[in-house]
Amino acid sequence: MNNNEIWQAVLGEVELDVSPASFTTWFRNTSIIEFENDSVVVSVPNGFAKEWLENKYNQFILKAIKNFRDNIRKVRCIVSAKNISKASKVSEKEIDSVLSREVGLVDLRSAEAPDQRSEGGHIGLNHRYAFENFIVGSNNELAHAACLAVSKNSGRVYNPLFIYGGVGLGKTHLLQSVANSILAQDPKKKIIYSTAEFFTNRYIDMVKNQQAREFKASYLDTDLLIIDDIQFIAGKEKTQEEFFHIFNTLYQLNKQIILSSDRPPKAIATLEDRLRSRFEGGMIADVTRPDLETRIAILQYKAAQKDFEIENEVLHYIASNIQNNIRELEGALSRIIVTCELKNAEPTLSYVKKTLSDIIHSGRKKGIGFKQVIEAVSDFYDINSQELVNRSRRKDIVKPRQVAMFLMREELRASFPGIGEQLGGRDHSTAMHAYEKISRGIEQDEVLEQELNNIKSKMYSNI
Ligand code: ADP
Ligand code: MG
Repeated sequence: MNNNEIWQAVLGEVELDVSPASFTTWFRNTSIIEFENDSVVVSVPNGFAKEWLENKYNQFILKAIKNFRDNIRKVRCIVSAKNISKASKVSEKEIDSVLSREVGLVDLRSAEAPDQRSEGGHIGLNHRYAFENFIVGSNNELAHAACLAVSKNSGRVYNPLFIYGGVGLGKTHLLQSVANSILAQDPKKKIIYSTAEFFTNRYIDMVKNQQAREFKASYLDTDLLIIDDIQFIAGKEKTQEEFFHIFNTLYQLNKQIILSSDRPPKAIATLEDRLRSRFEGGMIADVTRPDLETRIAILQYKAAQKDFEIENEVLHYIASNIQNNIRELEGALSRIIVTCELKNAEPTLSYVKKTLSDIIHSGRKKGIGFKQVIEAVSDFYDINSQELVNRSRRKDIVKPRQVAMFLMREELRASFPGIGEQLGGRDHSTAMHAYEKISRGIEQDEVLEQELNNIKSKMYSNI
């Protein structure tokens, strides 16, 4: 077999392991240059593909190549100029889809395997979240200090610790930093990180299988329990009850409990009083939107971390235009880094304005409003737009309504209260929950992603 045939066979296997979007993006225009000692030397079209193949996909490649050359232990990539022109044809859409699917628009260069310590199916801890890469500003100072204190004195200082604030403002980052920092001090510490949604679903499943006792036991066997987005259990009586017992037992054992929520305990409407007073019995800290200086500092830090050179003037432009949410801020920067690398461009102010124009100006500029979103969604799901708008609780309306909420946020940059108002006078938290749910859904579910793409193209083609 010649090198080309080997590489085609390897690609065939790798294709089974990675998403179609990443496969086309990162493996297109690659080939084997040679085998050298224990390395396979691969030609790639750009620095970005080099990073990914050497650091992220190397295991897949090595696994596949073993079948042909069993002495190969390393993947080394060489950026070869002849491929650059072809690579620049990578479309915006592909870049977007890879960015959002693979890394939630973050930290591409240090993308790494998910932490193996994740507990029995809990959503795992991610190494990426550390105090070291968390920028402290007046918006998160208190929450940061409290988390840091807990990481040094678990169970003894603030228990429970309750962090609240809007979407994309760093709650999960802080919660996981505590866990990662404690594990770094003592890898034997038992830590459970779980979203409240996961907690709830798992509880329901296990009760169904008559495993309520095992469920409880699994959460008690820990030194630190972190439940993210606890507002999700509001109104779910049985889950609250179960959580109350777990909470009390751990609390009495001096085990640390950390909770996050999109609002303070007193604002979680259907939270049982006894739980609310437990939450209020510890330390409560909020995270709010960062001010301009902090937003610039975050961008500077993230650009430096990626060795990406960009003028302060340009960062200022990004930070002035993206104000609501740090995830979006990171997303914008990642997008610029990726497009610059793939297209071999410099991040000048005018280039950045162009690259971000659809994010910054969004649907509104293109004549899209609430009405167009509602029409496109009801059209696609074949439902009556009145039903989408009024308070119908019919099951088949719930998902389309969530999709509409998501699109209003994503495409119109509408505020959550504004979205709630448009769709049946609902609470802003309903809109927020829908947004989070669909964002997560798209990352995991290709069908949903496709549906959204269809709706969007419909929406934009109607104007
Ligand atoms: P939340 O849980 O509040 O919705 P996340 O913790 O998921 O928000 O944060 C969204 C993104 O923004 C993450 O990628 C996180 O790393 C990043 N981020 C948030 N706050 C900061 C900060 N102060 N410094 C650096 N990165 C941050
Ligand atoms: Mg979060």
